[in-house]
Amino acid sequence: MLVFDHVIKRFGANTAIDDVSLTIRAGVITAVIGPNGAGKSTLVNMAAGSYRATSGRILLDGAELQTLPKYRIARAGLGRTYQNIRLFDGLTVLQNLEVALVPQSLPLLIAEAFWLAPRGSAEARETSRAVLARLGIAHLADRQAGSLAYGQQKLVELARAIVGRPRALLLDEPAAGLNHGETDELKAHIQSLRSPELAIVLIEHDMKLIMSVSDEITVMNRGAVLAQGAPEAIRDNRQVQEAYLGQPGAMGAIETAARGRRNRVRLRASEGLAWGQS
Ligand code: ADP
Ligand code: MG
Repeated sequence: MLVFDHVIKRFGANTAIDDVSLTIRAGVITAVIGPNGAGKSTLVNMAAGSYRATSGRILLDGAELQTLPKYRIARAGLGRTYQNIRLFDGLTVLQNLEVALVPQSLPLLIAEAFWLAPRGSAEARETSRAVLARLGIAHLADRQAGSLAYGQQKLVELARAIVGRPRALLLDEPAAGLNHGETDELKAHIQSLRSPELAIVLIEHDMKLIMSVSDEITVMNRGAVLAQGAPEAIRDNRQVQEAYLGQPGAMGAIETAARGRRNRVRLRASEGLAWGQS
């Protein structure tokens, strides 16, 4: 169980997260939706240790995370993907997973800075290969991560997030930039990850995906939790609709926005590859 307890995050004068208390239960898929700038990624970044909360506590199975460094949070059982893909482009797919399993005396950033290829144990390699197989990308194991197509990189990110057998899995816009076929594949993978011990958080704009996989929806707006409930209740909630476009009946606009965003992300991704970046 992942708990945000009166969490506040300020960036200068901007209060990105304004006293959020939220319990994410194990065994269910919790979607977190809300307009751009609502604070969704900031929540993930604080839980994972990329950002420090200004105040408040974040707990995973009762253990406080908010003061731990990233690698210790990962070891405590938190797996996450990034809104913008962050793989080690120069490492192979398999190495990207092995890095996540290296006993972390060496923070990942250092490994990255020195382009250190991890020498994983045989066991780590086995585990990594099994996860790749589970996601249907075993054949990509020895490819350089940076050379992969965008959709493949998104799957590798998911593989890296689950290879350490997390207790909480936070997916920040995993479907952004994916085409319909890829999104369906992702949906099947997310559903297959459902387990009584795992809390899954799915941040998404793709309402079709959200409505079909999530058990609960939390709606964020302007750094606060606006509503929580079952998917159908949220979809029909007038307040939620108003948060998106300031008028009832606006929920469809989320999907339109998601489509526009999808095209932009794909464009960025292809530019990135052309320039050798992720
Ligand atoms: P969402 O993921 O819901 O679109 P974010 O969590 O990215 O929203 O952003 C929430 C607010 O926090 C926004 O006002 C954004 O500008 C601000 N913010 C996020 N990250 C940073 C940062 N690193 N520095 C300054 N402001 C930030
Ligand atoms: Mg975001």
